[in-house]
Amino acid sequence: MHIVDIRERSIAISRYADPAIPSGGLTTSLVAVVTDVMRAGKPVVGYGFSSVGRFAQGGLIRERFAPRLLNAADEALSDDAGKNLDPFRAWAVMMAGEKPGGHGERCVAVGTLDMAIWDAAAKIAQVPLHRFLTDRLGRNLVNPSRVRVYAGGGYLYPKNDIACLSDEMRRFADLGFTHAKIKIGSTSLDQDRRRIDAAAQLPGYGHLAVDAMNTYDIDTGLAAAATLGPLGLWWFEDVCDPLDFTTQASVAAFYEGPIAAGEALFSLAEAKLLDQHGGLRRARDILLFDPVHCYGLPGYLKIIEYLVMKGWPAQAFWPHGGHLFCLHLVAALGLGGAEINPLAFRPFRGLADAVEIADGFADLPQAPGVGFELHSEVWQEFRRVLGDC
Ligand code: MG
Repeated sequence: MHIVDIRERSIAISRYADPAIPSGGLTTSLVAVVTDVMRAGKPVVGYGFSSVGRFAQGGLIRERFAPRLLNAADEALSDDAGKNLDPFRAWAVMMAGEKPGGHGERCVAVGTLDMAIWDAAAKIAQVPLHRFLTDRLGRNLVNPSRVRVYAGGGYLYPKNDIACLSDEMRRFADLGFTHAKIKIGSTSLDQDRRRIDAAAQLPGYGHLAVDAMNTYDIDTGLAAAATLGPLGLWWFEDVCDPLDFTTQASVAAFYEGPIAAGEALFSLAEAKLLDQHGGLRRARDILLFDPVHCYGLPGYLKIIEYLVMKGWPAQAFWPHGGHLFCLHLVAALGLGGAEINPLAFRPFRGLADAVEIADGFADLPQAPGVGFELHSEVWQEFRRVLGDC
């Protein structure tokens, strides 16, 4: 097995359905990993991207991690039979020489390539990723047909905020979602309370989560908790700076409803700190680690294995990201559910053209690999990355 080429490109990505609304310059990296396996006269190619909500990782991919894969000996990337890529061995190749600590965003660069390698391996095996992963891990697929999902969005609109937010929630309901999440923390608490009341009209407070995007300090966090507590929200997410465990624990001690955390922690070492010092309640709270941002699937599996061993249920994991890769992981690993971004983060909005969402569940794609080819907007972008091949 050999990886013969890796192509990479950065694109702008907006958190709004209308990309003309300023979005902080967000970008993401797209990669195409070309293997030496030929099918119908063409090489099998795996595709990956750097998830959403942060920035592209082209420099690290081009200068450090892609060359390690391209220069690897065949047996370093292959499974025992030599017939397919072994994504865990490929991950070890990427991480060769990396030092402990200093996670920074190298974990995102690794996770981007890792997604493409899983996509290629599942395509070579000619099965959808959730099936490939359960086979590889020796697990049974609990529900092979559908996955629990919710709609993420609800960012503060620069104009007509409440009207636009209400329209967005109506569109979520029309698409088949029963649960949704909106953003808070970027305006006054009074205005956020009005936004929550408007957004809760359709799903109801118990089906609505709020995401403070890591904006509160201990005073504003406790004030928000006092306002939000009586509402009975689905969960209260990203309360404070991801590494401010003092504030996280203080709010958790005061706020009785579920709290969600972990989206902006990218390593097992940080996940351990959150568990030890964040004051989270294992029977009630939600863990949002993004598999792509956490060194890819091998890194994410280490986090799950450790926290489950510490008493967290697998159903507490609701991975951030909102895309097809996470949908497969939720199914294969028996996690709680998956975020979907139905309108934002184009081209990665929604799941795929033919995926049905009904009663808060999404059908699992059955095409080999992740299934990016089933999403016309995504597929168009990946074709541009690959070029002539
Ligand atoms: Mg969040």
